[in-house]
Amino acid sequence: MLSFISNYLPNTVFQSLTAAYFRVSALRQNGLRGSHSSQETIQLNKMKVTILPALSDNYMYLISDENTKQAAVVDPVEPETVLKAVRDEGVNLTKVLTTHHHWDHAGGNEELVKKISKRSSSDRFSIGDINVECLFTPCHTSGHICYYLTAPGQPPAVFTGDTLFIAGCGRFFEGTAEQMYSALVEKLGNLPDNTRVFCGHEYTLQNLKFARFVEKENPEILKKITWAQEMRKQGIPTVPSTIGDEKKVNPFMRVMMGTVQSHASCSDPISTMQSIRREKDNFKA
Ligand SMILES: [Zn+2]
Repeated sequence: MLSFISNYLPNTVFQSLTAAYFRVSALRQNGLRGSHSSQETIQLNKMKVTILPALSDNYMYLISDENTKQAAVVDPVEPETVLKAVRDEGVNLTKVLTTHHHWDHAGGNEELVKKISKRSSSDRFSIGDINVECLFTPCHTSGHICYYLTAPGQPPAVFTGDTLFIAGCGRFFEGTAEQMYSALVEKLGNLPDNTRVFCGHEYTLQNLKFARFVEKENPEILKKITWAQEMRKQGIPTVPSTIGDEKKVNPFMRVMMGTVQSHASCSDPISTMQSIRREKDNFKA
């Protein structure tokens, strides 16, 4: 609906309508709790990732390097929350990493960039001692980027926006099944198994229900559903996952497996990807 009316409205009007739409649905979803999940900090040795819940099911991430106190933020749609976390942690925010142009990810950039000096644009850069590599993963949007972070002596981390979700993937708004296969299997799937996965939304339970529908006998999926239900009952985020775990439960990363292909009645990974994505688009959990 929003993309339809966007063709007829000046950009500024569209931006404020979009903002209002997301804020109202967040209010409806979160009620007086104010937030869909608790704010949690994941300590990966010298790299610290603070999970900042936003809107009705988005996640923003504040990444900081403990050695140098340099910090970056991923998809800061709610700048106020980000700036409070920056103050609380006493870090120096110097970079904004945007996964893609959708408002619920990039909508806070303008306001935040006014307050800090830099914005990253090259393929490789660093946050203090943390190395960042941009992985180009077009499909959900044609310019979608995932950020792969490494630092000596600690597990890597990848920030996957709306390309890879825990047990799922983003809709193919501006791309093809080939592109999503390349993103999920060839690029993200080739990262080390212990890579922590931080995605753009809390969609884990809905995704796992679809995963169970695709592979009814997969015990890893059943185990993860029990775990995720417990976490969500307590309002705890289900991120991060790992690349190794995703390969065990995520049907979109398992399109080369016989079980997933036979569910889709397909015999190759690309048409299986196409078929299960179409099925997921209409799936009621
Ligand atoms: Zn999106």
